[in-house]
Amino acid sequence: MRQASVVLALAFLSACRQSASTPAGPTPPTLPATPAIRVLMLTATAGFRHDSIAAAREVLSALAPANNFSISATEDLNRINAAGLSETDVVMFALTSGELALSAPQRAALIAAINDGKGFIGIHSATDTLYEFPDYGRLVGAYFKEHPWTQVGRVIVEDPSHPAAGVRDAFSLEEEFYTFRDNPRGRVQVLLRLDPASVGAIGDYPLVWAHAFGNGRAYYNALGHFAATWRDQRFQSQLIAAIRWTGSR
Ligand SMILES: [Zn+2]
Repeated sequence: MRQASVVLALAFLSACRQSASTPAGPTPPTLPATPAIRVLMLTATAGFRHDSIAAAREVLSALAPANNFSISATEDLNRINAAGLSETDVVMFALTSGELALSAPQRAALIAAINDGKGFIGIHSATDTLYEFPDYGRLVGAYFKEHPWTQVGRVIVEDPSHPAAGVRDAFSLEEEFYTFRDNPRGRVQVLLRLDPASVGAIGDYPLVWAHAFGNGRAYYNALGHFAATWRDQRFQSQLIAAIRWTGSR
């Protein structure tokens, strides 16, 4: 990071000097690019299948080039193995569901990859996935319980300074808001939570969280039920921040 800033500063100085002598201005030197974060996006389902999967794939692919990541979207569970995971920086379970047919070696490879320093991102029904795989539960942070509120709700940002937060201010949106079998607070750092008063409830309802997993980083975001959420710039900025944070070591 520091090296990048020095290079940037030198490039700026050099550009200034050159433009002083040549008013038309030469093309600024190209900066060395940081390698793009490779995201393996799994949208396989063994239970409920969200209509928003197509929008999820389309939006992330569209965001990728300008945000220095690449998306390899797949429904092929065979991509989850030691060789496949060695080619990726971040594994994203987006709108997955049910008991995905991953073999014991595939499961071990997934957990080992994150433990060894890769990133994991779970979106929406990623917590409604692999209930019979407790290590996955630890990775994603909690298991889905129910969705009592499908309506407009207000989302509170608990820690806008966290690099994975992606948003600074509270916002309202129409979503299917989840509750979880147990509250992950204490095991994870909660980044965003539901404002219970906005749905006429009381209690603590974390929606987005981040935690270390061995040498890797894991992130979960409960939003994403509707295609409109994926097209919402406030959700997109959270996804970009999550990819950057989980994809850095
Ligand atoms: Zn949903």
